[in-house]
Amino acid sequence: MTLEITNLATLRKTIDGWRAKGETIALVPTMGALHRGHMTLMLDAKEYADRVVASIFVNPTQFGPTEDFSKYPRTTAEDVALLKTDGIDAVWLPDVPTMYPQGFATTIHITGITETLEGPLRPGHFDGVATVVAKLFQQVQPDTVLFGEKDYQQLKLIERMVSDLNMNLKVLGTPTVREEDGLALSSRNRYLSPEDRRLAPQLHEALQQASRAMSQGKDVQSVLAEFRERLTDRGFALDYLELRHAETLMPLTSFQKPARLLVAAKLGTTRLIDNIAVE
Ligand code: AMP
Repeated sequence: MTLEITNLATLRKTIDGWRAKGETIALVPTMGALHRGHMTLMLDAKEYADRVVASIFVNPTQFGPTEDFSKYPRTTAEDVALLKTDGIDAVWLPDVPTMYPQGFATTIHITGITETLEGPLRPGHFDGVATVVAKLFQQVQPDTVLFGEKDYQQLKLIERMVSDLNMNLKVLGTPTVREEDGLALSSRNRYLSPEDRRLAPQLHEALQQASRAMSQGKDVQSVLAEFRERLTDRGFALDYLELRHAETLMPLTSFQKPARLLVAAKLGTTRLIDNIAVE
């Protein structure tokens, strides 16, 4: 049975009940419109804890004024059905006034790691993410939380916040789940036109080919320049294609491990992000 919980008092009572029995708890935060990527996180979570809580909250504070908050897909009934099928213990479905009651005035701001890549392109986004995630951690009090490597910078800033604020929980990152053609699953893929959907896997292909060239010793800057040009020529409006230190996300001018190759680009009005490790 999957409990559908919409108020904080019920959530606390449920968590307290599990705790009283000595059970451990894993949390998987999401914005809903669940797909196989999310569900992989849920199933992984079962391996780490006695109880799994999924949260579904489309967090207004992480969307910029020109972003797609009102258009973001909301498919709660289907999401809950998927969670039930997979035997997830509870889904936490707070509404906006529960998360941000009148007078709400606190923001968590992480410096450094948030000031690059997605940060300058989406002002305020990571403050919104950090604040809502910190609230979810306080509400659910999990032992373990799971986040996808798909949102790699998000995963790294959450690890930073958990460490900096001595939050008593373990953060696990899980590999990106992809379509057969390599496209990373995303709730936003449904907005790709059929033509853009055919182009979209080239983002992952470019990551793989560029990564191979770099690990074979080719000059990092020329590889990046070549693949930036290639993606742009093929119709991607590129925000960035960058090689970064896998933990600090600082730029790497030559290939050294651990390294991560990250990309963000728009196809039509749909913004896609992806990343891979460079081995
Ligand atoms: P979202 O609902 O987009 O906020 O995503 C919720 C969680 O699912 C985040 O930790 C994401 O990184 C993760 N996630 C999203 N897409 C994928 C994917 N294709 N593979 C693995 N995890 C994913």
